[in-house]
Amino acid sequence: MSQAIRTTCAYCGVGCGIAASPTGGRAVTIKGDEAHPANAGKLCSKGTHLGETVGLEGRLLHPMIGDKRASWDKALDMVAKRFRETIAKHGPDSVAFYVSGQLLTEDYYVANKLMKGFIGSANIDTNSRLCMSSAVAGHNRAFGEDVVPASYDDLDEADLIVLVGSNTAWCHPIVYQRIQAARAARGTKLVVIDPRRTETCEGADLHLALRPGSDVALMNGLLAWMDQGKLLDADFLRDSVNAPEGFWDAIRTGHDLWTTAKACDVSPALLQQFYELFAATPRTVTMFSQGINQSIRGTDQVNAIVNLHLATGRIGKPGAAPFSITGQPNAMGGREVGGLASTLAAHMDFAAENVARVGRFWAAPTMATKPGLKAVDLFRAINEGRIKALWVMATNPAVSLPDANRVREALEAVPFLVVSDVMATTDTAVHAHVRLPAAAWGEKDGTVTNSDRTISRQRALLPLPGEARPDWWIVTEVARRMGWRNAFAYDRPADIWREHARLTAYQNDGARVLNLRAQATMGNEAYEAMEPFRWGDAPFADGRFSTPDGKARLLPVSQMDLQGPLRDWPMTLNTGRYRDQWHTMTRTGLSPKLARHREEPLVEVHPQDATALGIADGDLARVSTPQGESLFRARISDGQRPGEVFTPIHWTDQQSSGGRTGLLPRPLVDPHSGQPGFKSTPVRVEKVATE
Ligand code: SF4
Repeated sequence: MSQAIRTTCAYCGVGCGIAASPTGGRAVTIKGDEAHPANAGKLCSKGTHLGETVGLEGRLLHPMIGDKRASWDKALDMVAKRFRETIAKHGPDSVAFYVSGQLLTEDYYVANKLMKGFIGSANIDTNSRLCMSSAVAGHNRAFGEDVVPASYDDLDEADLIVLVGSNTAWCHPIVYQRIQAARAARGTKLVVIDPRRTETCEGADLHLALRPGSDVALMNGLLAWMDQGKLLDADFLRDSVNAPEGFWDAIRTGHDLWTTAKACDVSPALLQQFYELFAATPRTVTMFSQGINQSIRGTDQVNAIVNLHLATGRIGKPGAAPFSITGQPNAMGGREVGGLASTLAAHMDFAAENVARVGRFWAAPTMATKPGLKAVDLFRAINEGRIKALWVMATNPAVSLPDANRVREALEAVPFLVVSDVMATTDTAVHAHVRLPAAAWGEKDGTVTNSDRTISRQRALLPLPGEARPDWWIVTEVARRMGWRNAFAYDRPADIWREHARLTAYQNDGARVLNLRAQATMGNEAYEAMEPFRWGDAPFADGRFSTPDGKARLLPVSQMDLQGPLRDWPMTLNTGRYRDQWHTMTRTGLSPKLARHREEPLVEVHPQDATALGIADGDLARVSTPQGESLFRARISDGQRPGEVFTPIHWTDQQSSGGRTGLLPRPLVDPHSGQPGFKSTPVRVEKVATE
């Protein structure tokens, strides 16, 4: 067996290190990298079975124009020409890129540079918009910058871990194992706040099965209770935190224990138990994920959690932090290079001085001066005829965006659609005018950043199959053909990495990223040998934040009125992931072992509802909304709250005629982050057939 190559897992934001040994042909033996700080050698089922997913089944191996194979030259020339012509005729905001947290940081960087510095539009958004953009907006509002003020080490040092809206056991399994290890080693308490009783709740000290969307009420209630009991950190509040006028009056009104318990639909006794545990435990990490972020009030929900940590001084200290855990392998790297339509490179916003600074650094001819269209608005703009050319990289919006029928109409209607992807016929790629074969995990080199800001290398293990090429190369070739040869004169990912590090370390006054300074001049060999490292160690340890006066901000957030059952859509749909599948299954769907866990998409229904609807376990049920409908096999489970159902996000037209969750949610978004709400859609559920 050849020597193991150290790389990083293709899937979630835990960012586990992998020791991969190619064993001939396309075969690879996968083990956990014992030296990686995220996982110390452990892997979950998805990581363990990565070797089953590196075959060539379904791969796009050659550039395609329509249904015909084309040379790279011809395909790239066509992409550059159509984008140039569209921009000349309709302006820079008539084109867009929709990219992905699957891209490596180097890929992300060049795509952003091309769109924001050279095309002159910020119409580049990412599927990470669906995953953690509410956390970004919440951090910016509270801290004056987007930084996750926690690391996995904090989980080892906490005395209480509160998981909010996160099925960590399934979606971030190695972090969950770390939490369980902390519980065994030091008796760390675990509280789970989630409308569903998931696998994460097994063995938890408390589970609060709150009403969906009542998180702000819960957190405000806890803040009010601690304020009343004089349990807040008065010194930290005085020295490090600003509260806007009226903040405390609003908290002290209508947030007593009984009112909060009613709003959240949990018992006052259970609520009080949680409050007392939180108040008694200074070393608390509150970790949150999609249940908080994927809401039309996601940013307020993030700030309700952050408020609590600021007011109690539980931030900037070991084992004490609010911790947004990311979904994708490089969602965080995308944030670092400005992968969202609302940000510039190096975590900067579109303030005029930042636009000028990045423009000077890139010697950019036409810098974008304002944020671009966020994911849902971007596809709406296509439906409205405002976007005439779209390039989708490494993602499958026909399945993953809400109101997927409208997204498909957009993909069908856009005058020019390019898809660069690993797979030949995703639900998105089938609409493309040009398909460009991208290198897959295990075939490309670059870096990714995980949820706790640890940057790791992904390394190539296998030769590029067919004519597949890395994403950075594809973007660079198009940029050169659009006329910007010198600005995109990269020969290798290390060239791009050095430029990104230089821009970040020297151009961003935030200076939390100074440890990228050494990276700005590193040689190719050092890049090859790069060990995992974390940027921005111990944020806010000095009690200073990145606001003009150095103080963090408490944000006044109030619980919105929760919509009661609608006559025609009387139930509430919650959506999420299965343990052994990933996104739209383009990779995990290739693994027979992973398929065994859940062979088909199920709608989970509470027994009371099942009885009322005449649905038995195994029946086919139709789930419908005004946006669309799909069939699922029913699973009766009291893990749901009555009146609520759950479906998985993964299945596509490629795998199944039913189980299409993306058809159901409304295209409604959080007003601050633009993140769509996937967690509480009014639906109707009906029995279709008996097994
Ligand atoms: Fe990969 Fe996430 Fe599993 Fe780690 S926890 S092996 S990063 S899927």
